[in-house]
Amino acid sequence: MPFHVEQPPIMPDTDKPVRYAERDEDGNLLPPFPVDPVTLTEETRKDVCKNENGVPLRKYTRFYAVGVYGGIATAYSVGCNYRCTFCWVDWSRDWPEKYGEFYSPSQVYSKLKDIMKVQGLRRARISGAEPTLCPDHICGVLDLVHRDRNDFDLFVIETNGVVLSQEDGLAERLAQYASRARDSDTVGHVRLSIRGGQPEPFEEKTGCSTEFMELPFIAVERLWNAGVSFHVAVVVDPRFTTEEEKQTIYKKLADIHPSIRDGVEEELLDPYPHALVRLRAVGRDDVTGKEISRVEERMLRERPKS
Ligand code: SF4
Repeated sequence: MPFHVEQPPIMPDTDKPVRYAERDEDGNLLPPFPVDPVTLTEETRKDVCKNENGVPLRKYTRFYAVGVYGGIATAYSVGCNYRCTFCWVDWSRDWPEKYGEFYSPSQVYSKLKDIMKVQGLRRARISGAEPTLCPDHICGVLDLVHRDRNDFDLFVIETNGVVLSQEDGLAERLAQYASRARDSDTVGHVRLSIRGGQPEPFEEKTGCSTEFMELPFIAVERLWNAGVSFHVAVVVDPRFTTEEEKQTIYKKLADIHPSIRDGVEEELLDPYPHALVRLRAVGRDDVTGKEISRVEERMLRERPKS
């Protein structure tokens, strides 16, 4: 488990902190973009994962309940290894060294259980940026959920799949808590988001180099082979994904197994406040509108200075 440092994630080849993607007037991405999500995983871990006396800690900014999934207690984790232009996550995604507090698996579990009790819920999830960045931590939370599985209908782990594609054995670990076997007594379920299915659009949407486009599909294959309960969410919003790219994604999923394609959750995007700033920075004023709105101005004021 990495040491905790309060420094921004840096791309070693440029020495520049990775915040959000920007394009110049000619439409070229400014350094350090496009980034390498595997290196960004390692860099972000230095800020958001740490081990204290053998306990794997992870940074979170808040714990709350929301209406999705029919009402669910949510732990909002800090830090991601993608830089999606339409990302709704707050500035903790881009300045992970400045936001959040460290929590142990049992502290996260207690927070979620308290919310479930007060709100009368039986569902919980880890959301926010990329919840799997610290695998030992998330498996620690899942251990506790599995122990008390009679209190849960569902426990959702959201991911973009990069860590799963890199960490051998992680899919098998998740299968202990989220199995799709018919007689399974697990309550876990993975929601894996696919952002792109063609190299250039993948880079445009995620801020990551084209060569990393296959990683989420490797993760899907690993989840399938390990017998994990999961489904795939695909951004099908026509402002970001053409019909041709969507069909390419669906074919790749069907090639792993037709039921994965049949179970796709199609995602349409709302331009949330932080997304407005990120989209304008890459010239997407077709989505943001030409004029900077008040909410966008507020997000700019709240953005850390460096
Ligand atoms: S949309 Fe999800 S995967 Fe993309 S940058 Fe935001 S948190 Fe990460």
